[in-house]
Amino acid sequence: MLKIGVLALQGAVREHVRCLASPDVEVKVVKRIEQLDELDGLVFPGGESTTMRRLVDKYEFFEPLQYFANAGKPVFGTCAGLILMADNIKGSPEGHLRLMDIDVERNAFGRQRESFETTLEVKGVGDDIEAVFIRAPLISNAGNDVDVLSEYDGEIVAARQHHLLACSFHPELTNDARMHQYFVQMVRESKETAADSLVTT
Ligand code: GLN
Repeated sequence: MLKIGVLALQGAVREHVRCLASPDVEVKVVKRIEQLDELDGLVFPGGESTTMRRLVDKYEFFEPLQYFANAGKPVFGTCAGLILMADNIKGSPEGHLRLMDIDVERNAFGRQRESFETTLEVKGVGDDIEAVFIRAPLISNAGNDVDVLSEYDGEIVAARQHHLLACSFHPELTNDARMHQYFVQMVRESKETAADSLVTT
């Protein structure tokens, strides 16, 4: 059984729980840092990144979350969750958790188009993935080690760096669970690799 958590400080938590549900996944709503120890993977939901960061600090999640990701455990951030993961945020020099070699711009899709829905081709996932954008960030730059998975209007909106997956949109607000299934597969593979290295050492 895989254990995958959804960071439940703020944002669209329940929707991720619903999308992650599958026979070999036990989904945990994460509110305390001790819960991180038992997890094989973690989702940072969408919401409001400044508020989420404030709560990360308030409940002393900052270092445990960095430790979790730096230990190689898979993390999936959507929208505000992506902003938490980025190394650089335009206009906020300090950034947040700085897990992933990407630069982001918040609320980047313009006022008239604050929210919209579309379908996207996402490499390795599918060519008609349903995507909801709500005051979404874009990825303005991705490091050499980052695999760009999807673009919308010439802008990067989904990317993967090894065990880290991030997208600008909200797959959890659709009935299309393929982004989550892709993440669950990342978690499965990471757990198998960790088990193999235990056997061989
Ligand atoms: N604009 C929000 C932020 O900067 C993110 C929006 C979202 O998660 N839907 O945090």
